[in-house]
Amino acid sequence: MLYKNIFLLLGSNLGDRLSCLSLCLELIEEHVGTIIKKSSIYETTAWGRTDQPDFLNQAIEIETPFPPTELLSACQNIEKKIGRQREEKWGARTIDIDIIYFGDKIIHSNELTIPHPRMTERKFVLIPLTQISPSFVHPILKKTSEELLKQCRDELLVKYFSPQRREGAK
Ligand code: ADP
Ligand code: MG
Repeated sequence: MLYKNIFLLLGSNLGDRLSCLSLCLELIEEHVGTIIKKSSIYETTAWGRTDQPDFLNQAIEIETPFPPTELLSACQNIEKKIGRQREEKWGARTIDIDIIYFGDKIIHSNELTIPHPRMTERKFVLIPLTQISPSFVHPILKKTSEELLKQCRDELLVKYFSPQRREGAK
């Protein structure tokens, strides 16, 4: 059995951010499931803290045989492999994998909240998500990604990031 309409948001703001994202995509294909769609890469000012490097973010849609809790562990294993060490909340990280939607499942457990609770106030989630899936409907709010983006008041700048731009070559 394959679960579908699963959306993940990848983020990196430490080290060679582009390589971390592409390694993450490879490891997801290898250990988690099939990547159905991927957004462009966007660069965003760090949210919640201004004293750390900018993030690269990318949204992907996947299909996976793993139910939610196992998907979370599989993603956390990849975070560990790519060398995420600091566990400070909102701290810098080589890779962060957040589960945004798991189909239309609604989950509130100690370790997992789906849909991701802060997605609606973050343009760095909604912009890449809308690019790959403008009409997917939030299972609680009953609004599409496009509608959620339109009503979002986040003022942090989210810029398109050219994959041709090498790290350090600003
Ligand atoms: P954040 O992504 O908010 O910066 P972390 O990546 O350090 O924070 O995650 C902290 C915890 O958030 C994880 O250990 C995980 O159990 C929990 N969590 C709850 N809901 C989700 C979700 N939808 N996707 C990913 N992690 C989640
Ligand atoms: Mg996370």
